[in-house]
Amino acid sequence: MLPKSVQEALNDQIKNELASAHLYLSMCAYFESASLPGFAHWMKVQSREETEHAMKFFDYVHERGGRVMLKEIPAPPTKFSSPQAAFDAYLEHEKKVTALVNGLYETATKANDYATQVMLHWFIKEQVEEEKTGMEIVDQLKMIGDNKTALLMLDRQLNARAS
Ligand code: MG
Repeated sequence: MLPKSVQEALNDQIKNELASAHLYLSMCAYFESASLPGFAHWMKVQSREETEHAMKFFDYVHERGGRVMLKEIPAPPTKFSSPQAAFDAYLEHEKKVTALVNGLYETATKANDYATQVMLHWFIKEQVEEEKTGMEIVDQLKMIGDNKTALLMLDRQLNARAS
């Protein structure tokens, strides 16, 4: 049986993952408006991935005989001052998600919920990957600066993201 404290924390995390999906879809829309289709594509794929994360938690709660209760998702920002600003916000957001996943692990540990701890190992590793990718793109955008040609080259590269 899923401890109440863990069920509550998992329901919060479903909301957090859906909020990430919503934020990245908003970034996708911004990149579309800035005529950067590769950046837009990358964010759309990332948004879908966050929805999949939410569904992993959603299914897991049910597997454990728990009850999912969806919560309100806040409206994301719709404007970003530059591609750099959008990716800075992306990286900051992923760092926040890492802290939330760690907090969830702490809740599961306090409740002696070993199954949830094991399930969370996948998410802990996933966050290492998300932050690494975010840091790389932020660094590359810093290198690019005002160089439009280099920005379009990165746009091409991001367009190749498969999943
Ligand atoms: Mg996620």
